[in-house]
Amino acid sequence: MTECLFCKIVEGKIPATRVHEDETCVGFLDIHPQAPLHALFVPRRHLATVNEATAEDRALLGHLMVTAAKVAKAKGLADAGYRLVLNTNRDAGQTVFHLHLHLLGGRPLGWPPG
Ligand code: AMP
Ligand code: ZN
Repeated sequence: MTECLFCKIVEGKIPATRVHEDETCVGFLDIHPQAPLHALFVPRRHLATVNEATAEDRALLGHLMVTAAKVAKAKGLADAGYRLVLNTNRDAGQTVFHLHLHLLGGRPLGWPPG
């Protein structure tokens, strides 16, 4: 059995509030939201970081972005704006090693990030 937290969420073994699901990815609310809307989009297939992505994953990575944008639009954030973030390894503060795209929105977001 996998020990990966987000694989378990994808499999429904750990609860999460889903905002999207399809055959390729699952979107759910972050447990420690950093903005009024903070969702994570993960591929159903385990991929630890974007470093492991290959040319075969181009459609998958594009799908995560298009899906996050679709949810942002559905939540009314398209005009005001939002941020998509993909943290990779230590310096970016990645804590869960199943690739995930953060969608943050609903308040002004500082730049540059810390
Ligand atoms: P990162 O720092 O990019 O690896 O982000 C991992 C994110 O996963 C953090 O924002 C956490 O709050 C979030 N997280 C950790 N455990 C859970 C969980 N059980 N359900 C939803 N989000 C989680
Ligand atoms: Zn996983």
